[in-house]
Amino acid sequence: MKLIDNTKSPLNVLDQVGVKPEGPVIGYVHSIESFGSVDGPGIRFVAFLQGCRMRCQYCHNPDTWNIGVGDEMTADEVLDNAERYRAFWGETGGITCSGGESLVQIDFLLDLFTKAKARHISTCLDTSGGPFTRSEPWFSKFKQLMKVTDISLVDIKHINSAEHKKLTGIGNENILDMIQWMSHNDCDMWIRHVLVPQRTDYDNYLTELGDYIKTLDHVQKVEVLPYHTLGVKKYHELGITYPLEGIEPPTADRVKNAEQLLHTADYTGWKTWRPQW
Ligand code: SF4
Repeated sequence: MKLIDNTKSPLNVLDQVGVKPEGPVIGYVHSIESFGSVDGPGIRFVAFLQGCRMRCQYCHNPDTWNIGVGDEMTADEVLDNAERYRAFWGETGGITCSGGESLVQIDFLLDLFTKAKARHISTCLDTSGGPFTRSEPWFSKFKQLMKVTDISLVDIKHINSAEHKKLTGIGNENILDMIQWMSHNDCDMWIRHVLVPQRTDYDNYLTELGDYIKTLDHVQKVEVLPYHTLGVKKYHELGITYPLEGIEPPTADRVKNAEQLLHTADYTGWKTWRPQW
């Protein structure tokens, strides 16, 4: 008997049993931000997709974790909404899919980005890489997705797999595998790293991460994101224990130290980056 993983979205469950969905692919959208300025190049229309299987201790969007809930939208509905802001995008802006973890809904993402490119809209994927696998049919969908993705914002939560598991609930092997694949396949990336005291803010790990990023191609930008406590209220509202209770954001000196160890100033491609048409 074939076991069905019913923690996946309904569409992915249909894939597992070999049934092709009929009609337009439906996405589960947590929320929309019309004028995102920190979610990729330029001004971007950001769709935060519902669903994530990781459990990062510092996650400030625990309300995006559940899979198969949220506003049901088709790609054309998202794009029709986004196009109302086209005048603000300039040469570099466009749409970004964030989350949650967008790759959980890879069928929708592929449909959305394919249709976006057909409308001459630049596409950006914000991902932690958690769902990445070379298993089929997922890997073929991912490769197709990368053909219609102009740039990816990739979070590396921790360079050490054991520490990554403590911090997020899973190891980082498949995530680093995804990044290697992207590096070898001409995928432009911004690498981002959340600096958390007592979790990621250690010189040895930051040095290791900085050395690792140096081995990659197509990295346009490296960013240190200081941990913040803005998500704490949501945990209290959802009745979830906040794992980082009592941990304060890093000091400006520690942020500067991390930027030096990750060599952020060396990555300047983002200044002249443009989507390919
Ligand atoms: S990957 Fe993102 S959405 Fe998922 S738990 Fe981590 S921070 Fe939250």
